[in-house]
Amino acid sequence: MFVYADNAATTAVSKKVLESMIPYFSEVYGNPSSLYSVGQKAKEVLEESRERIAKLIGADTKEIYFTSGGSEADNQAIISAARIGEKQGKKHIISTAFEHHAVLHTLKELEKEGFEVTLLDVHSNGVITPEQVADAIREDTALVTVMYANNEIGTIQPIAEIGAICKEKGVIFHTDAVQAVSHVHINVKEENIDMLSISAHKFHGPKGVGVLYVRKGVRLTNIINGGAQESGKRAGTENLAGIVGMTVALEDAIANIDANNERLAKLQDKLIEGLSKIPYSELNGDREKRVKSNVNFCFEGVEGESLLLLLDDKGVAVSSGSACTSGSLDPSHVLLAIGRPHEVAHGSLRISLGEDATEEQVQYIIDSVTEVIEYLRSFSPFWRDLVGGKRPHVFKEYSVA
Ligand SMILES: *Cc1c(COP(=O)(O)O)cnc(C)c1O
Repeated sequence: MFVYADNAATTAVSKKVLESMIPYFSEVYGNPSSLYSVGQKAKEVLEESRERIAKLIGADTKEIYFTSGGSEADNQAIISAARIGEKQGKKHIISTAFEHHAVLHTLKELEKEGFEVTLLDVHSNGVITPEQVADAIREDTALVTVMYANNEIGTIQPIAEIGAICKEKGVIFHTDAVQAVSHVHINVKEENIDMLSISAHKFHGPKGVGVLYVRKGVRLTNIINGGAQESGKRAGTENLAGIVGMTVALEDAIANIDANNERLAKLQDKLIEGLSKIPYSELNGDREKRVKSNVNFCFEGVEGESLLLLLDDKGVAVSSGSACTSGSLDPSHVLLAIGRPHEVAHGSLRISLGEDATEEQVQYIIDSVTEVIEYLRSFSPFWRDLVGGKRPHVFKEYSVA
């Protein structure tokens, strides 16, 4: 059996999306900036896509900027807010310890310029509270950036409440909604979101295309300079086929959120129940406040990388830590942020189901993980120490998630 269960890393482009894109490679191939008709047709399609995407998240058409993906959108949002703040003498930014690296590394760069960054501690259930944000806001706070749903543990943050606080205090609020937009209904106006990042390849769209929503009145700073595309705020000939594909994919994803969540919730229950039967294991992140596709576990006495390679041999594609950091031996910063000690943060597994996952596939994942963990523990010196009482266990033998 082959089961792809790493949809938080990327997804397959759906047939419908692929077909919608093809004409824009070879028929309507004009440059949207050209004045002749094949260019103007492309421009029309581009603007129609912008309008359709705006509608999906409750934004105005002019508030949608196309980017090369989630990372670029995060970079531009944060840098723009920093430049606005700087002009007003505000050089403090609030974020969380478990953001995506596209956010954390951008903040690191700003620290080198003299910005002060407060990274809020994440509660052990993988959720921050609106009160934490309220308490951290100062006179000189230029930006609050908090992800909507975490990419490793799937936990959903109280975005509308944080938005309300930021609005009241007059602080710009950005959210990285890359992992949320296809799982949660989002309305940027109702939730008082000033800037929001989206990436197409996380919801069956193509790679290399995304959206930055920016509320009217928030001034963007270019990070790519050149032509006058995207109202002069993001240079570069538009990836029209990609934008069309993203539009179709997002419409599909959002139209099916409720139906998908209902189906996925049952599979998530089965997966959590099945994996909880493995001794000395524990679910990472809140049982309820998480996207329905995500299950993330820590296992004592197991090394995540070996786990995922042996699962690959069985045809199960999952991840350990996040895609961007696997390959390095550092444990996941997300798991450390929720208080997992190093030795168990190493033994983690993220399973992110696709909407088309079946019960049989889920059972196969449970059986394969159970078998591989038993095998790995059978020759792990670390596990021998745990069993021999030379080290204390971190988890209870069986914990009901
Ligand atoms: C994947 C991801 C990104 C990066 O998006 P790209 O389009 O791959 O650049 C940013 N944030 C989160 C939460 C993600 O999951």
